[in-house]
Amino acid sequence: MLVYLARRLPTSTKTNSKKPSKIMTIPLPTAGPRLSDGACDFINDCALQDLLDCPADAAAVRDVIAKSLAKQPLTEAETAVLLNATSPELIEEIFAAARQLKRDVYGNRIVLFAPLYIGNYCVNDCTYCGFRSRNQAAIRRTLDSSEIQAQVTALERKGHKRLILVFGEHARYSPEFIADTVHAVYAVKDGQGEIRRVNINAAPQDHDGFRIVKEAGIGTYQVFQETYHHATYAKVHPMGTRKSDYLWRLDALDRAYESGCDDVGIGALFGLYDWRFEVLGLVSHSRHLMAKFDCGPHTISFPRLRPASGVHLDDRWLVGDDDFKRLVAILRLSVPYTGMILTARESPEVRQELLGFGVSQIDAGSRIELGGYTEAGDAQQQVCEREQFELGDVRTLDQVVAQLLADGYIPSFCTACYRLGRTGEQFMEFAVPGFIERLCTPNALTTLQEYLIDYASPATRRLGERLIQDGLAAMPDGQRKQELERRLQRIVTTQDRDLFY
Ligand code: SAM
Ligand code: SF4
Repeated sequence: MLVYLARRLPTSTKTNSKKPSKIMTIPLPTAGPRLSDGACDFINDCALQDLLDCPADAAAVRDVIAKSLAKQPLTEAETAVLLNATSPELIEEIFAAARQLKRDVYGNRIVLFAPLYIGNYCVNDCTYCGFRSRNQAAIRRTLDSSEIQAQVTALERKGHKRLILVFGEHARYSPEFIADTVHAVYAVKDGQGEIRRVNINAAPQDHDGFRIVKEAGIGTYQVFQETYHHATYAKVHPMGTRKSDYLWRLDALDRAYESGCDDVGIGALFGLYDWRFEVLGLVSHSRHLMAKFDCGPHTISFPRLRPASGVHLDDRWLVGDDDFKRLVAILRLSVPYTGMILTARESPEVRQELLGFGVSQIDAGSRIELGGYTEAGDAQQQVCEREQFELGDVRTLDQVVAQLLADGYIPSFCTACYRLGRTGEQFMEFAVPGFIERLCTPNALTTLQEYLIDYASPATRRLGERLIQDGLAAMPDGQRKQELERRLQRIVTTQDRDLFY
């Protein structure tokens, strides 16, 4: 912490600075120096805006598509060329390229996870969020340890192996509290059920805070910038709240890397400002991390604004389905090696269509009200005051798995890379030739087999068994295939699980 303060604060404040208490590690912005002072602001609004004002040129669009299909990340200027393309013909070419790149880089696996909301106390007043401090209607709650155990058990009984824990921003949710919660989640075992990877979506931490949560064994730490546009950021995050400090948030994942968290997720909340600008912001963020740490973000999220309790949505910048498709396809082309997460904010129909454009992870069977995995059962009804926003897809995990299988995707519960230390710079999943065939596809098939045997409905199991047989038939004969067949059979005939490569 002291090292960090020394780096960030101007000299004049160093001699006066008292050692802050834990709760003060993210102070409210005041007229004086802020912790974010000295952080690098790599978002140049005017420069990004200028890129969006250039007319599209068909030849340039095709050149950029060709570069992307060669699996090279795009610059902001190149991404803008795609964003400026508005003719139906060019947009179709962008869609086709995104589909091809998705197939080439990711194959047909879709990784599944579930969100677990731990607490919705929040000191911030983000104008778009149902948890905002001024929303008197919100029912505030933090799950205690027995409630966490009950939620995780319910998730394990559905077949989940990977969770993302979600927290409001509040002194209650200190890094120590987050770390304890992570330990508590990993400790819950229910028969064959276990959570093998815990990701986090919580407020930005300081260096010490990131170190503490990293040591607890987290997978990805997600922080969304919400909007990269400075003026809009100031408008939707009222002054006097912690979140109003744009740079503290923009610099969060730099601090994460500097603290040893080399698996991070970035995101923008689409609907606050021009979606094309936000795409450029995400590309800039990704390139900044890559340039500074030799490793881009592990995932990009692109949530669309949803109705929420106590929130009046300004519809000026809301993103329609057609533009949403474009932004997902263009992001896929701009950051070929970054995982893309599409959440249950979207309807089943939108999710089904967008999977083909480059999405690699989705949540399923999600409940976002506190305690929702046990207290609401499978009821489709949502209680607005208990939630951060309304969900668009409330299907069960089994229904989502069945749909994926019917559409020819391999639902994957794989968590192998992170557990074998294949993260950060070493996360060579896509760069190492043959990585997907040797490791990802077999891991997807064995974790799918576990799901089919332990949790699936009979109809889903039949679909899954057929897909596994088809997958095996498509593999060249040899030792690798024999070994995979042995493992798949072992899962059927024994209690052995977690047979990852
Ligand atoms: N409190 C932490 C923060 O703000 O980073 C983390 C949790 S917050 C519950 C997770 C994300 O939900 C936010 O980063 C924001 O992008 C998204 N969100 C907030 N309100 C939303 C809404 N009305 N519709 C869709 N997503 C929303
Ligand atoms: Fe709090 Fe996060 Fe909601 Fe903002 S988005 S009000 S910080 S929970």
